[in-house]
Amino acid sequence: MADRKPIIAGNWKMNMTHLDALTLVRTLSYELHERDYERAEVVVCPPFTALRTVQLVIEDEYLPIGLGAQNLYWEDEGAYTGEISGAFLKSLHCTYVIVGHSERRKYFGETDETVNKRTHAAYRHGLKPIVCVGETDEEHEAGQTQAVVERQVRDGLAGVSGEQLSELVVAYEPVWAIGTGKAATPEDANETIGYIRKTLASISSDAIAEGIRIQYGGSVSAGNIAQFMSQSDIDGALVGGASLDAKSFAMIVRY
Ligand code: PEP
Repeated sequence: MADRKPIIAGNWKMNMTHLDALTLVRTLSYELHERDYERAEVVVCPPFTALRTVQLVIEDEYLPIGLGAQNLYWEDEGAYTGEISGAFLKSLHCTYVIVGHSERRKYFGETDETVNKRTHAAYRHGLKPIVCVGETDEEHEAGQTQAVVERQVRDGLAGVSGEQLSELVVAYEPVWAIGTGKAATPEDANETIGYIRKTLASISSDAIAEGIRIQYGGSVSAGNIAQFMSQSDIDGALVGGASLDAKSFAMIVRY
């Protein structure tokens, strides 16, 4: 099995003013220790308005915490009121950017095609995309999980090179498990993530796919993270609600 360092990322969603974010990242820095950072890569994804604040804390205190954004637009600059480009995120020293979160697909019309445009824009600016895939409740009930994630991976990553794929993180997040307290079973999540890895191999190679980190996301908590991390194909977690509390998030990092 490939040696993939686990990656635990906190998606703060539309929570935390820049002042709240300051407190959260500072508290997190007291909770986490060197050995925690050695075991897992830690990433936080605040809202755009808190990125600069969190960046300054991370850099002033030399914290080994990666900074990520929650979205980006595919154009680099121009008359696109309200949008944020990869260039802006890179200048704030973001390393990661979440692309295609199911809330963006559901509320903001994100499609596999726009996921693909954003993914290419992320690479163009030296950002590592965390591309989210996952089936809805209806698709799950209809037994379409594999077909849905395969389509999202193939279309969302069309035209991405093997070299770029080695910098990719995929988050498998069943939509019905997000923010519901009803997580997938670790075995089911592992099976679907294994299928995602197979799909990645079919668009690149076995060797490249073996190196790509695939997270599980959906009601991850300090109580269930260990079961997910004990699965062969699960390389970390994308954490929503539980990442808003420094103690809970630190316990997840320490799984
Ligand atoms: C998410 O926002 O990606 C997520 C998985 O949320 P939660 O952990 O709250 O289910």
